[in-house]
Amino acid sequence: MTDRDSTPPSSEREPDGEKKKERVIHTRVPAVLEQELKRLAENIRVPVSNLVRAILEDAVAVADRAGRGVEEGLHKAASNLSTQREAILAKKEKVVTQKALEGVIGFQKLTLAGEAVCAKCLTALHPGDDANLGISSDANAPRVVVCDACVPKRRA
Ligand SMILES: [Zn+2]
Repeated sequence: MTDRDSTPPSSEREPDGEKKKERVIHTRVPAVLEQELKRLAENIRVPVSNLVRAILEDAVAVADRAGRGVEEGLHKAASNLSTQREAILAKKEKVVTQKALEGVIGFQKLTLAGEAVCAKCLTALHPGDDANLGISSDANAPRVVVCDACVPKRRA
């Protein structure tokens, strides 16, 4: 994915002259949505404004093509956005997961006192759960915990 790809193709019927009639619209968005947009924009490395414009253009183009209402198109774009975001986050998590267990030389059983997340399968772990603390060869490495299912088993 390159930055240039983030600009969706403009609809075929749009003459070049139309493009120059750009307007700035200001809108209020919930803080959560703003954060999500910022995070997504950062993840795919485009300015937030480009992302928002791409989403809007996409939505309108889709609605146009399907002969459906713009509103429905916007709905679809919004859900596409969250799917895309999930895919990006999943990819990122996988990388983080692989890194988390680097340098771990063994695991020590423990009973959790607080909330944790298995570093391998990302299962949420709760106080009282059995878990396993990863012991790293690097004393400064962040602590990792894995669930029982993710601990390497003795070969039979
Ligand atoms: Zn696990």
